[in-house]
Parts: sequence; C-alpha cells; structure tokens
Amino acid sequence: MAVWEKILYELKNRNRIDKAALETLASKNFSEGVKELIKLKVIENEQAAYKFYFSSLKARSLEDVLISEGRLAASELERIINEFGAVPGNLKDLLIERGIVYPAAVYRAIAVQHNSEFVDLNETKIDDALFSKFDVNIIRRYQFIPYAMKGEKLVIVIDDPSDVERIEEIESVIGIPTLAYVSVKSDIARIINLMIETSLSENTLFADTDDTPALRAVSEEADDAAADAEFLKTMSDSSIVKTVDSIILKAIRKKASDIHFEVYPEGLKVKYRIDGALYVVKTIDVKSKNFIISRLKNMASLDISEKRIPQDGRFKRYIDDRAIDFRVSVLPSVFGETVVIRVLDQNALGLDLARLGFPEHDLIRFKKNIFKPYGMILVAGPTGSGKTTTLYSAIKAIKTPEDKFITIEDPVEYQIPDIVQINVNEKKGLTFASGLRSIVRQDPDEIMVGEIRDFETANIAINAALTGHLVLSTIHANNVIDAIGRLVNMGVDPYQFAASFNLIMSQRLIRKICSSCRREYIPDEETVKLMGDFERYKDHKFYKGEGCRFCHNTGYSGRTGIYETMPLSDCIKNMIILKASPLDIRKQAVAEGMTTLRQSAWQRVIEGISTIDEINRMTFED
Ligand SMILES: [Zn+2]
Repeated sequence: MAVWEKILYELKNRNRIDKAALETLASKNFSEGVKELIKLKVIENEQAAYKFYFSSLKARSLEDVLISEGRLAASELERIINEFGAVPGNLKDLLIERGIVYPAAVYRAIAVQHNSEFVDLNETKIDDALFSKFDVNIIRRYQFIPYAMKGEKLVIVIDDPSDVERIEEIESVIGIPTLAYVSVKSDIARIINLMIETSLSENTLFADTDDTPALRAVSEEADDAAADAEFLKTMSDSSIVKTVDSIILKAIRKKASDIHFEVYPEGLKVKYRIDGALYVVKTIDVKSKNFIISRLKNMASLDISEKRIPQDGRFKRYIDDRAIDFRVSVLPSVFGETVVIRVLDQNALGLDLARLGFPEHDLIRFKKNIFKPYGMILVAGPTGSGKTTTLYSAIKAIKTPEDKFITIEDPVEYQIPDIVQINVNEKKGLTFASGLRSIVRQDPDEIMVGEIRDFETANIAINAALTGHLVLSTIHANNVIDAIGRLVNMGVDPYQFAASFNLIMSQRLIRKICSSCRREYIPDEETVKLMGDFERYKDHKFYKGEGCRFCHNTGYSGRTGIYETMPLSDCIKNMIILKASPLDIRKQAVAEGMTTLRQSAWQRVIEGISTIDEINRMTFED
C-alpha cells in the first residue's frame, strides 16, 4: 500500500475519519490530501500525517502477538503455514477450533494487537441499568455489550475491534461515540442472551412487543372475534392489544403467578409476582391506561362501561403451545380501576403429587388416605400456602372415569376435564353449604369443598364423608392442631369428627435456593443453636444463594412445600372424643411419626434446598 493509503486506513481504524471521508480522500494525492485533513482538523500539520504512517507500520499480526507472548509455538505456526500454504485468514478461529490456543488467549492477543483492552466476561458483572438503556434488538444484531461510560464515549465489548464498519453502524444507530474493548465471541453471545433472558427491565423485557404474536384465544370461551374487532375499531389501532399480549406472554415466560396493573395519577404500573415477590416491569402512560384496562376487561368478557363496581372474569389463551387460564379481578380504586390477573398455569404446576415436594414419608401417608373410598381429608394452611394445588393434584391422582367427582370452589381455579366444578356465588345464594347440600343429591363418589368456613359446611361435609363419600377440603388454620381446634370451636360433634376423618395435614411454601448462585457458607453458632441441635450440625454444610441474574438477586428460585401429616389413628380419634388438650394430641401425633412443619422446614435446610433465613421468616408454632 502506498504511504497515503496507509495513513488513511490508520486514521479510519482509529475512528479519526469516517468511511465517506476515506473514500473522498483516497482519490487525492498526498499533499492535497494532507491539506484537506488539516482543514478538517483531523491533523494539525504534515508532520502528524507521517506519525500515522509510522504507527500503521507498527500494527502487528495476530500470530506475531501470540508468539511473542508465548501463547503460540513458532513450530505450531509453521505447521499451519505448511498445511495452508500461508497464514490462513481465519487463523483466530482455526486456533480455537483445533484447541491450539485458548479462546481467551486468542482474544487477549487481539486486544493487544489493536491497542484495546480485554474484558473477561466470566469475571465481570454487566451493568444492568446501562445494558437496559439500549435496544436489545440492536445489541443482538451487532453482538456487542454496552459495558461502561468513559467520558462521553460508550465502552462496548465486541469480538473484533478492527471491524470498523460494524462499530460505525453501532455508533450511528445508538448515536453515541464508542470505544471498543474485546472479549471472546462466544462469551459475548452467551452474556447477551443471559442479560435478555433474565432481565426484568422494561426496555429489555418488552423490546420485541411489536413482534409479539397475537395470543390465540381458546375457542370455547374466547371473546368472540366480532366483539373483538369492534372493540379494536374503537381503539383505532392494535398497539394496545399488542402491549397487553406482550405483558401476558412475558409473564408466562418469567413464571409469574400474578400480573398487577396498578393505577396511579401518572399512569399504570405493571408488576409481576415471581416466587412470591413483586417486580415492576413496565410503566404505561396516562394516555393509554384506560385502553389497557378496557382491553383486559374485554378479554375477560366483563362490562367495559361499568367502572364503579368490582368485577371478576376469566379468559384462556394459547401461549407457547399450551392453553393457560387467567382469572381477572377488577377493582375501582380512587385513581380508577386496578386489575390483577392470576395466572392459572396447570403445566407450570404440573399438578403432580410427586412434584409438590412431599417427603416420601408424608407422600405415602397422604396417598394412602386419598385412595380410601370414603372419609375426610383436610388440608390446613394460611392463604397462599399451596393448599389448593395439593388438592387439585390429589384430584388428578384419584379421579377415574368410573367415579363422579364434583367440586364446589370460590372460585374455580383450574378446570379439570371430566369432573363437575361449581363456582360459589354468594350473591345468588349459592354458598359452600347450600351447594354442598345439592351436590350430595347428585350421586357423587368424591367431593371437593374449596374451604370449610362454618359449622354448616363442616357438618354437611362430615355427613357426606360418613355416608360413603371421599371428601377433600381445606381450612384456614396454622397447623393440624389448630385445624382440630377450629372444627371443635365451630361446634362439630367430636364423635362424628373422629368417625369421619382420614387425615389432617398442614402445609406451607418455602423458597428454594437459586441453583445458579448457591454456595456453601458457615452460619453463626447462635443461629444454628436456635434452630436445633448445634453439636449435631456443627460440621454440617449449609447453603445459601448469593443472588444473581437468574434469581433477580434474591438468592431464591422456585418454591417447595413443607408438610405435616396426621392420619387419624384410633388413639388420636379417642383423644378427640375425650377432648384431650391440643398439646397432648400433638405429642401423640409426633409419637406416631408426624414430622412437624418446623422439622420439615429444617429438613429442607439440612438438605441444602432452603436456608435458615427463609425458615426463620416463616413463623411456626411448636
Ligand atoms: Zn441466583
């Protein structure tokens, strides 16, 4: 290359001139060109132009850097040259593919070659806030990571800092001058995917809203197409529909249990509940807020014009090839209607007894009792303790086409094929008690009563159990002993109680340690002493999550059930009839092999599934 060309390419490589300038200047001769460069303030004088010429001569080849740094043996290079007849153009890839040089060493050499810096992405935490500022579609297309701000320049991590064209395009799209650092190509791709996958930031999460496929309604109960079309007309465009679909789709992919649309004077805040915690994922401006709420009400077949009373509805959509139910609750607040959608995803739950987290011992007890032809099974626990999921899983396990299974629920959460499910409707007089009374006359074999809240319901349920039906139900109580206390306080006859019950169990959900950031640690002595037998556990390995992208820095991911199960043995039945104290009944149950909730929770800590902190957060009465 001629001197003048070398100068131009060097200027271009250092981002001192752009491609267009390079092309114009290339047609000029040296002295004309230098004058032009001085005029453009790229260089100050002719002397400076020579400086660029000399620096261009200093640009080293990759093999040169690798050999001089001891990463590549000269003999190895010679072998490659012999094989290909010259240094191959894809030397970088060849060295990595053949395992001759580690990828990180190759990219370190590339950084040296171009006077850049190498970033080890395995050792670096990416700035989430900075990353989220840029369009993920652009990041994905150009494969770079926004890394840091240096002055007014954005430092980007890229695999090839000499790819001036790509870097220029990035600059023109994002509108910020850049400084290119280097990292391993595959690491960059991996980190970009990871950032996108685990992000809950609005920009990243909803970057592809425009490309979101329309969520297909499930035919039987879909909002019909005509009503939808008319509704769309009134909204003038379908961006609202897309936004809502995208919010729902992402919620499913993030395994959210609920989607909240909270209304404030400045707009609508969209939040996801994931593993029990709420995260703000989107803010919708005040102009669109009413359209979003109307769209949600329309999907749930609710009255759009009615804005002053609470409304409940549901809808079903196909998402990622499965039908998912959504239960919608609309409540008028001081700033307007606020909406909460409960995601009822049977697949996510599995409704599989084996997957609920029952320890073997409890699972055997539970199964033994639900497969009995008659009797009461009662699950106790506060709201959100997973009682309903346990019962649905039991229904799924025991239902057969030969038996008639009827449920009464408030409201029906999951629709299970081939069983009759009834919604409580207090306004119309259909209560648990009245519904249950009618159900008994429908010749059922198994019955599920959503919750026992009063004497009347308890009494009918017990009578059904005594007359040859299997009855499953839940009760709002802290543990099995509390449950007995509640039933007795309702006025249930102790003889009938003892005669009808198969099993009472209680449960909670506790968070599991995130598997991506789980690590061993040593809890302080006091903590262990509080929990149990210190001597026994002083050498035990305890675990906790440090917090990472996968768990949104909580250290936890997913939940599991903890249980106490008490079959009603003859001895315990006698104690109930004799009105023994709760404490004595509990002692007897433990003597008969009941693991208490606290013991069950502690067991999860010992197994390294959950943490001491998590079980301390829950209160258990011993
Ligand atoms: Zn984690």
